Amino acid sequence: MLVRYSVINDKNPREIVLLRGSGCKWKRCAFCDYHTDFSEDENANFELNSKELSKVTGIYNHLEVINSGSFCDLDEKTLNLIEKVCQEKNIKTIHFECHWIHRKLIPAFKARFSKIGVTVKIKSGIETFDRDFREKVLIKGIGESDPAIISELFDECCLLFGIKGQTLESMRNDIEIGLKYFERICINLMVENTTDIRPDNEVLQIFMKELYPLYINNPRVDILTENTDFGVG
Ligand code: SF4
Repeated sequence: MLVRYSVINDKNPREIVLLRGSGCKWKRCAFCDYHTDFSEDENANFELNSKELSKVTGIYNHLEVINSGSFCDLDEKTLNLIEKVCQEKNIKTIHFECHWIHRKLIPAFKARFSKIGVTVKIKSGIETFDRDFREKVLIKGIGESDPAIISELFDECCLLFGIKGQTLESMRNDIEIGLKYFERICINLMVENTTDIRPDNEVLQIFMKELYPLYINNPRVDILTENTDFGVG
C-alpha cells in the first residue's frame, strides 16, 4: 500500500501528497513503472485524494503535489479541493509535476492559483541534458536540446542518475546545467523496478563518491537515493 502523505522537514521544508489522476499521457519512459498508479474512475480518485488532502496542516505554508503524471491528469474536483486547502491552510507555494507535452497548459494553471495568492512551481523530469541519451535510451519525449528553451516554462527539474552510459562528467554537467537554468533540481538515483533499465552500481558509486558530497548541502538540490526518500510512494 502506497504512503501518500508526508512532511519534509529539512531542505525546502514542505508537506507532500501523492495523489492519483487519470494517468500519465506519455507512459513511455523506459525507466518508469510508477505511471501504473492511476485510475480512470474520477470519483474513486477524488475520494482517495480528499482523504490525503485532509491531512495537510499548512505547517510550512508550502505543499508539493505529485501524481505519477502531470497536474492536468488530476480531476477538476480534486483541483478545486487543492485550491480550497491552500486557502484554508494558508499554503503560499505549491509544486506540481508536468511532462513536456503539457507545457503549454502551465501559464493558465499558474494564473488560476495566482488569483488566490498561491505561487505555483512546476517540476518536470528532464532526467539529463544529453538529448541523445534522454531520447534514445530513456525515451523521455522531449524533442528539444537547448536547456534555455526546455526551462522556459518549468521552474524545477528532476535528473536521473545511475544508468549504464552515464559518467562523472555527464552527471556533473547535468547538475550544473540544471542549477543554471532551474530554481531547484531533484536528483533521483535509479533503483531496481519492473522495467528493463537496471541501476548500474559503478555509475552509482561514482555519483556517491564524487558528486553527492559536493551537492548534498546545496539548498537548491534534493537527492533521493531511494524513490521513497520524500516519505511517499
Ligand atoms: S512522464 Fe513521468 S510518469 Fe510518465 S512515463 Fe515518464 S517518468 Fe513515468
